[in-house]
Amino acid sequence: MIIKKAEFVISAVKPTQYPEEALPEFALAGRSNVGKSSLINTLIRRKNLARTSSKPGKTQTINFYRINDVLCFADVPGYGFAKVPKSVRNAWGKMMETYLKNREHLKAVIQIVDLRHPPTVDDQNMYQFLKHYGIPVIVVATKADKISKGKWQQHLKVTRNELNLHTGDPLILFSSETSYGKDELWKEIEQRLDE
Ligand code: GDP
Repeated sequence: MIIKKAEFVISAVKPTQYPEEALPEFALAGRSNVGKSSLINTLIRRKNLARTSSKPGKTQTINFYRINDVLCFADVPGYGFAKVPKSVRNAWGKMMETYLKNREHLKAVIQIVDLRHPPTVDDQNMYQFLKHYGIPVIVVATKADKISKGKWQQHLKVTRNELNLHTGDPLILFSSETSYGKDELWKEIEQRLDE
């Protein structure tokens, strides 16, 4: 997709603040620091539209971006902070549940994992959470540039196995450093626009 327009719409805490427009929406989820903001900026070819890493304990918001007036990205708060109090974790879960249950136009969640390491328990839980709600998932393994090409397949296999990835769920190799996988990810997104 050629990006002509990428606009920040709103930071929302509760459903009444979600944008009302009925554009097809794609949420981006991942462990904090996994490279989510970088991936969004790579996808839309902006240096800094998506803010990088929100700090643990800060107000957690869902940030909405409108792309080319044809789709919306929802940047949901990162999960798996090492040292957050249980109350913050519970609030995160509630917010995600509310969001996932309320978004009729949600086409898929793009779940980002780190290709270098096996998926964490939080990654596994997130994937199961999405499966539980029957939400289509596109898994993206990022930071591929940090692994030698010869080891990509091996790492992808670990990712696939540890997540218990369902047949048919895409797993895309990605790097925000080199933009590797960008076209493939856009293809997966575009394919779902009219579904
Ligand atoms: P977020 O917390 O998930 O939004 O993560 P960020 O996008 O802020 O990235 C966390 C760190 O990882 C930053 O230092 C980024 O520069 C780095 N990073 C993100 N994506 C990549 C990537 O594809 N390759 C490499 N080498 N570094 C990356």
